[in-house]
Amino acid sequence: MTSDAFLVRFWGARGEGYSSFPGASAYGGNTCCVEMRCGDDILVFDAGSGFRMLGSELCCGPDTRLNLFFSHFHYDHISGFPFFAPFFCDRFQIGIWSGHLSGKNATRNAIHDYMRHPFFPVGPEVFSADISYHDFTQTDVIAASDRISIKTCALNHQGGGTGYRVEFNGKSVCYVTDTAHIAGKTDETILSFIEAADMVIYDATYTDEEFPEFSHFGHSTWEEGVRLCKAAGVGKFGIFHHRQTRTDVELDEIARLTKIEMPGSFVVCEGETLEI
Ligand SMILES: [Zn+2]
Ligand SMILES: [Zn+2]
Repeated sequence: MTSDAFLVRFWGARGEGYSSFPGASAYGGNTCCVEMRCGDDILVFDAGSGFRMLGSELCCGPDTRLNLFFSHFHYDHISGFPFFAPFFCDRFQIGIWSGHLSGKNATRNAIHDYMRHPFFPVGPEVFSADISYHDFTQTDVIAASDRISIKTCALNHQGGGTGYRVEFNGKSVCYVTDTAHIAGKTDETILSFIEAADMVIYDATYTDEEFPEFSHFGHSTWEEGVRLCKAAGVGKFGIFHHRQTRTDVELDEIARLTKIEMPGSFVVCEGETLEI
């Protein structure tokens, strides 16, 4: 029987890099990796360090197909890539997608450049899964299956980045990280992209108070996420891409303050699964 469930599971919510220190464990230390299950289809967004744990779980289950979509290839979004067990298992069919680089075979070339000597002992040629690489142009709509549509948009980040909007069974979830806003100015591209979405996962690396010092780092704030989500009539806002140095106490306080501004908001916690 075909399932209509739309599930979102967070395998890593940190940005910048893996984080492990006393006082920062409640929300997890792994970097960006979000799994969306649309019925029987598995879509994965980014391959940060949390990607490894997802791989271990998939290897124990019955699934054989998935698609991995990169926002971009900064280390906090790709560091788990070489350790994903399904790559080494011939029952898996895996599509790998990106849209922020130009040139022929951009996705394949970036992966092969990342996973090679002297940075890693072996290259992707050791994988035994059936792997296909796909490039797209930002603003393309990707039909991941006949029941899933994935809209894309360009983000404001060093070297570029892609935001995704997954639509399935009348529901929509947006994955929008890493991106910088301009203080006092609404990003109209993102505003229309997330319009009336059921859930938006957004780059909230900084606070508005911290932002002036880091406005050129390519990231946004939880307050800007609230402003965008409220203006766009979004249901749930997931605060994502937590700073490496952010403590549990600080994230608890952000959760408390955000809830006052927007009751449907929450700080993304590694290991959490939500049904849309
Ligand atoms: Zn990042
Ligand atoms: Zn980045």
